[in-house]
Amino acid sequence: MHELGITQDLVDLIVQQAAGRPVVRVRLRVGRLSGLDPEALRFCFGPCSAGTIAASATLEIETVPGQGRCQRCGATFPLEDYVGLCPACGNSHLDISGGDDLVLAALEVEQCA
Ligand SMILES: [Zn+2]
Repeated sequence: MHELGITQDLVDLIVQQAAGRPVVRVRLRVGRLSGLDPEALRFCFGPCSAGTIAASATLEIETVPGQGRCQRCGATFPLEDYVGLCPACGNSHLDISGGDDLVLAALEVEQCA
């Protein structure tokens, strides 16, 4: 399960960006083609954030669909898996053009009064 290391890196990034302010909410965008399991990320977030300023943060995970681009005709289209066919021309040589990564979409920190 490589989600553990990824979550650890993510918590480090969150802690760095929050710059000492307690983190209230974290929103992640997980691409369908990232190979990451959102539930595993959620599971790892607790132990990884324990003892940090992100320990009580609410974790929101948004799943985004993959996107493919046809190498022959250049059409872009949603892609559920790494293998697929171009809906425009039927070509099977596709590039992954989106939805294959994990993005820290938003970070909400406690505002100083
Ligand atoms: Zn095509």
